[in-house]
Amino acid sequence: MLNAKLATQSNPNHNTIVPLSEQVAFGGRELVIIGGPCSVESRSQMETVATELKAAPVQALRGGVYKPRTSPYAFQGLGDEGLEILSEVRQRHNIPVVTEVMSIGQIEEIVAHADMLQVGSRNMQNFDLLKALGQVKKPILLKRGLAATIEEFVMAAEYILSHGNPHVVLCERGIRSFDTYTRNVLDLGAVVALKQLTHLPVIVDPSHAVGKRELVAPLVRAAVACGADGLIVECHPEPEKSVSDARQALSLEDMVSLVHSLRPVAASVGRVVPEFNSFSQLAAVA
Ligand code: PEP
Ligand code: MN
Repeated sequence: MLNAKLATQSNPNHNTIVPLSEQVAFGGRELVIIGGPCSVESRSQMETVATELKAAPVQALRGGVYKPRTSPYAFQGLGDEGLEILSEVRQRHNIPVVTEVMSIGQIEEIVAHADMLQVGSRNMQNFDLLKALGQVKKPILLKRGLAATIEEFVMAAEYILSHGNPHVVLCERGIRSFDTYTRNVLDLGAVVALKQLTHLPVIVDPSHAVGKRELVAPLVRAAVACGADGLIVECHPEPEKSVSDARQALSLEDMVSLVHSLRPVAASVGRVVPEFNSFSQLAAVA
């Protein structure tokens, strides 16, 4: 593996635990499940997502506000207004939120309002961004580049680690291949390899990998079976109406059933799907 020093596994029994909040961490026995829409679209959309996903439960919400779109004419995200919505939902429901950072200039604002910063596939080798994220005191969700080798992926993580931030979670989200039936090809072999090569938590995004909602659930279960530490799955109150990535969005009901269906799979590989999250505990106290 090239010259990675910090990302690679020197002691096979050592796994880095990456904290997301006081109650939630990646890399332990408990899986971390992140759910939510591709894009933050409105206050009421995110309010519904937070309320409905309590039943799953999920441990964190996702929602893009600065969106990397193939076409400059497509919806680019709500920007600062979206971040404000995310921040309000985070506080009201006491749930961690994850959102994508596209440029160095966005880091400060996102750090102030989110619990984890996502580096999208298209920015996996934006080395200046990675170096800047090395100075951040929040965990980074690093997604694999569209056509990145496992080695390039590990070296991208090395950039963040070597610039001072030890809290990196790797995310396999599918790589490009010749077949257009699925949006990308979910590389579960990479999940297993990354767990062996590195000490970092590895999670799986089946949504961007396959691009079709009917293919998501079985791959989520396969990801857990092969050792993933968590999942990030796109879901929406009205999936067909999603402003971005509608074809791959699950309904909120399907997301809740999916989490329930994971319990026996997790148990079979010695992992646990948490029964509670911080916000459902809060509700229980109230
Ligand atoms: C996303 O998570 O919404 C996203 C754009 O993902 P990726 O960078 O993996 O395409
Ligand atoms: Mn998306």
